[in-house]
Formats: sequence, C-alpha cells, structure tokens
Amino acid sequence: MKIPELFKNGRTVFSFEVFPPKKDSDVSVVYNTLEQLGDLHPDFISVTYGAGGSAAGASTTELVRYIKENLHTESIAHLTCVNSTHADIDEKIKEFEENGIENVLALRGDINPNIPPKHEFLHASDLIEYMKPRSNLSFSGGCYPEVHPESASLVEDIHNLKKKVDAGASHLISQLFFDNNSFLEFLEKARIAGIEVPIEAGIMPCVNAKQIQRMVSMCGASLPLKFTKMINRYGDNPEAMRDAGIAYAVDQIIDLVAQGVDGIHLYTMNNPYIARKISESIEKVIRCDK
Ligand code: FAD
Repeated sequence: MKIPELFKNGRTVFSFEVFPPKKDSDVSVVYNTLEQLGDLHPDFISVTYGAGGSAAGASTTELVRYIKENLHTESIAHLTCVNSTHADIDEKIKEFEENGIENVLALRGDINPNIPPKHEFLHASDLIEYMKPRSNLSFSGGCYPEVHPESASLVEDIHNLKKKVDAGASHLISQLFFDNNSFLEFLEKARIAGIEVPIEAGIMPCVNAKQIQRMVSMCGASLPLKFTKMINRYGDNPEAMRDAGIAYAVDQIIDLVAQGVDGIHLYTMNNPYIARKISESIEKVIRCDK
C-alpha cells in the first residue's frame, strides 16, 4: 500500500521508526524487536538507511521486506543520495522493486566532512525527480519544524520544502521536537505556502539524558523549560528519567492529536518497551475519529 492511502481513513496515523543493526552485531535482536513492535499494530514502520551499511541479513531493504511479509504492516525504506551516483540509485530502484517495496523516504543525508559528496544529487528533491519517472514507488520526505541547520531561515526552508513536494513527495515526516508550538507554527506556515500533503509529527521520547543531548546538539531542537527541568531532576536516575520521558512524549502526542495533526511518527530507538508504554497510553486517543 502507498503511504498516502493511510491518511484517508479520518484518523491520526501512528507510525514507528527503527534502525538496522550496525555491522557485526547480532541481527536476531532487531528481528525480535520488530516482532514486538508489530504486536502494537502501528500503521507503518519506517527503516532508516546508513550510507555506511548495516549487519549482514538486516539491511534496510531486508527489514522492510520482513515487516511487510511477516508482520503484515506497511513499511518505508529510507534512502539517502548525497554519496550516490545515478547508477547507484538505478541499482536501488531495482532492489526495491525486486523486494516488493512500495514506499521510500527520500533524503539527501548528512554531509560527512570525511566523505566528499558525489555531487550527482544535491538535494532530496533531485532524488525524487530522478526516481519518480523510473519507478512505481511512492515518495515521502523529511521536514524541519525548527529549520534545517543549513537553512538561513524558516521561509527559505519552507520554500525548499515546497520544491520537494512539487518534485513528488506525497507525505512528510518531521524532525524531532520537544515544543509542540514550534511544530504547530511550522505546520501553519507550510500550509500557507501551499504544502498540502500529510505531515507527521516526529516524537522522540527522552529516556536517556546523554543520548538526547547528543541528538539535540545535532538537530538544534529547542528545549522548553519544562523539558530541561525534567532532565535536571531525573537525568541521573535512569528509571525515573525513562518514566518521565515516556510521560512527556505521551503528553506531547495527546496535545498534537487534539490539535488535529495528520500523524505521529515515533522514533522508537529500537526499544519495544518504550514503544509499548506509549502505545498503550495513547491507544484510545490515537484511534479517535477526527
Ligand atoms: P534536503 O531536503 O535536500 O534539505 C537539505 C538542505 O537543503 C536544507 O537546508 C534545505 O532547505 C535545502 N534544500 C532542499 N531542497 C533544495 C532545493 N531544491 N534547492 C535548494 N536548496 C534546497 N539521515 C540518514 O542518513 N539516514 C536516515 O535514514 C535518515 N532518516 C531521516 C528521517 C527523517 C524523518 C528526517 C527528518 C531526517 C532523516 N535523516 C536521515 C537526516 C537527514 O539526512 C539530514 O537531516 C540531512 O541533513 C538533510 O536531509 P533532507 O533529505 O532533509 O535534505
């Protein structure tokens, strides 16, 4: 099924993100995680892509295929392009189609100072423009409520996001944020700019203070006072931090659903316990008709 179809049933879409295991790790762990996530019946599960590769037997393509065939859940394969040639992407199209993959989250990828970009695809919009006429895939894209770090302003970033949608992205997933107002203000501006495709809110539960500080330094998410007080109070107590982080994410989700957002995309960090706790807390909320 193509992802935009999921947004037509009048309910908030609820989806998960997982990442493939690193090279040389035990791949049975990720398959076990997927089984547990599948039991929570998300609308779809997306699988990230690392240009550096993943453990044998658990690539992005293999996990997406597993999710579709064994969990009977729709899935999206992430794909980055900054370090790819046109021939690499031709190979990917073939690989996706041979494995029954229908949905791709088309991304530029971060520019690694140690790996010179190939300069064949400069932006995610170039990737979509190239792949769309050569495949029957459906394309999603990333978006940034608090502005992509390389953009000079929100106006510039939204202008570029419109190019991505015009190129063929029919669904967007946002970068993580901890302040719902930043997402709701971004959403309003995107709609004014004529971006009409479904936009999912990306929620990352803060269950480990150090991990979140690292993520935030990379993506620049702003931290509301309520959030920093939570980290300061519970950051050194893993169990308290986990429970507080889950409660904070649930609070964010309930507010966003009440505001009528199209969907919630949960960054599960491959942690089925956290995904389960959150899913159980919002089950009735998320399935409520709009
Ligand atoms: P782009 O859309 O190309 O945007 C990058 C910059 O260029 C922005 O400043 C934008 O304003 C500007 N721009 C965009 N289009 C144009 C244009 N046509 N003309 C001029 N300027 C333009 N990374 C991974 O490596 N693997 C993953 O699996 C992965 N998953 C992600 C999932 C989500 C939901 C998100 C939000 C990000 C993910 N990332 C992933 C990170 C992503 O690769 C980085 O944020 C990267 O820096 C930007 O990717 P993008 O596709 O948003 O880039």
